[in-house]
Amino acid sequence: MNKALRKAVIAGNWKMNKTRPEAKALVEELKPLVKDAGCDVVVCVPFTNLETVLDAAKGSNIKVGAQNCHFEKSGAFTGEISADMLTEMGVEYVVIGHSERRQYFGETDATVNKRTKAALAAGLTVILCVGEMLEDREAGITDELVALQTKVALKDVTKEQLAKVIIAYEPVWAIGTGKTATAQQANEVCAVIRATIEKVYDKAAADAMTIQYGGSMNAGNAAELLAQPDVDGGLIGGASLKAPDFSVIVDAASK
Ligand code: PEP
Repeated sequence: MNKALRKAVIAGNWKMNKTRPEAKALVEELKPLVKDAGCDVVVCVPFTNLETVLDAAKGSNIKVGAQNCHFEKSGAFTGEISADMLTEMGVEYVVIGHSERRQYFGETDATVNKRTKAALAAGLTVILCVGEMLEDREAGITDELVALQTKVALKDVTKEQLAKVIIAYEPVWAIGTGKTATAQQANEVCAVIRATIEKVYDKAAADAMTIQYGGSMNAGNAAELLAQPDVDGGLIGGASLKAPDFSVIVDAASK
């Protein structure tokens, strides 16, 4: 399948940034800049900003996501947010398995799988993050590791549900470090992920899968990364906090 037939998705991951007034201002600035985007535009914002950003984005082409959700529907899980709580608000996307959650909050492939299934059951589109640490790359195990992360995260996810999954390949050594994977490195691993989807599901599922690259993507390097045949979009951290920079990346994905 031709890459051009897949849906390109540029998603901002605001991480733990922006108060509500700042969030509103950023979306207001972004709206006119991305209104003619030829790709899907998503902003994944802190829980406290969801209502403000949903309101600010109403009537625009900007879609709204959260950065995590719990795998249970409700109950004694202090500090957690369920997938149903997100959909009830009108949230459409959720980032699952971001490397910062894996590194700092004990997220494992098994919990990523549980969260992914819960989010899909609630009707959310999942941006599922996978990626190797620097020592994995240096040990030459990137492909096996990322393939395994992908397989475990998608265990018991049906082919029908897969239509609501986007995979973000995010080498951990490139996140927030200013060190971007080369376009070739990014494309190679995105291709490994696509081959894994073909093995587990089938060629049609692999051809249709949107696979993003994430890791210090910015206004200067986005065009080259997004031109790669297996890179269908980007998950953007730092550069998503500035509307002009984010909109340059959206433009690069729209070509
Ligand atoms: C991210 O948070 O997913 C990310 C890729 O961050 P940055 O673009 O800042 O490296």
